[in-house]
Amino acid sequence: MTSPASDIPPHVHYAIIGRFLGFQALAPHLPTIALNGSRDTVARLTQRLCWLTNEILDDPDTTRTLGEFLRSLVSRLDDEVHGLNDEAQSVAQPVIEELIRLVAEFEAAPYDPLKKLTDAAAKAAAEYYKTFAAVPDELWQSTLPRFSWVNGLIGLSFVSAIHVQLWTEFGNYDYPTARVMVKIAPRELDLDTIAALPRSLLHEYVAHVPQGPHSERRLHPDTNDIFAEGWMDYIAHLIFKEAIKRQGPSLEIGVSPHLTWIDLHEQAAERFFNARRAFSDSDRTAAARYLGAATARQLHVLLGRLTATAGNPDECLYRLSLDLNVSRLGNAARERFAANVHLSMKRASRSDVVIAPLREWAAGNISSEKFFERVISY
Ligand SMILES: [Zn+2]
Repeated sequence: MTSPASDIPPHVHYAIIGRFLGFQALAPHLPTIALNGSRDTVARLTQRLCWLTNEILDDPDTTRTLGEFLRSLVSRLDDEVHGLNDEAQSVAQPVIEELIRLVAEFEAAPYDPLKKLTDAAAKAAAEYYKTFAAVPDELWQSTLPRFSWVNGLIGLSFVSAIHVQLWTEFGNYDYPTARVMVKIAPRELDLDTIAALPRSLLHEYVAHVPQGPHSERRLHPDTNDIFAEGWMDYIAHLIFKEAIKRQGPSLEIGVSPHLTWIDLHEQAAERFFNARRAFSDSDRTAAARYLGAATARQLHVLLGRLTATAGNPDECLYRLSLDLNVSRLGNAARERFAANVHLSMKRASRSDVVIAPLREWAAGNISSEKFFERVISY
């Protein structure tokens, strides 16, 4: 079962499903196994899961069905557990039982985990935009993920330990369309990568997919764009944190309902966010991402302090940020907006660049567009 927008052949799909279900079964038990002093057991089970799923990657002509592959994965992992000493067996056995349950559940209602996660990120982003800004419905309907794979090692530009590449491509139609490209390295698909997927997908769907202007050909922001890559990533992070707690307009982020996974996704999201903003000599774009995110955060704090906006600072920040991202203003104007907000936050003497028009905006005297213009033209 491969999804229509997928370049992933069946045997690779088998490996991906095997890893997803295997890590889903393993993760909730890792703390208990480690607590019992069985870190070797954790390593053995993880290695075995990777070994068995790698085997199928080398077998493109397999005649096995996905169900047969998964059942043999369970039984061979079970063999591994039976080879452990009694104490290790007792802590590892629940992992096998959980995997048996997950495989049965999967066989009863198969799904593509990558598709499920991208759909959830798209839905969360669409719900936030629907609540706070105007985006044509066709934009969401005509945006599709596209999955591909690579046999070797890949990582994100700013963090090599998350083994996936994600980017958004705009379509060349009269109306705005987009493709969210998801390139997976199945041989490296590990717990940290799986845990980071919801947050990293949300970056694409919040920052890039709905970007305006919608009336003309859309241009991609530069990799060091402080608004698109910094400011909007702070917004994606806020949305992630709300959605995972089931607060805010979106109640669904597609993560496993298992509470252990909520923890793992949250930790992975923080690592992702921090890594994007970590200064490094080899990646000067990180400084731009840092500056943009820090400026959005400072405006967020300011909105919480000003009497006019203190009642609903989150909503004000969403309205302004999502509106600016989809507006007819181009990337350069959005960057200038963020840069002028930064300037005004940095110097008390310039604070009125933002505060005066913000008060007028909050009072309903000027539109968001007028507010952006005032800040940009400073
Ligand atoms: Zn980006």
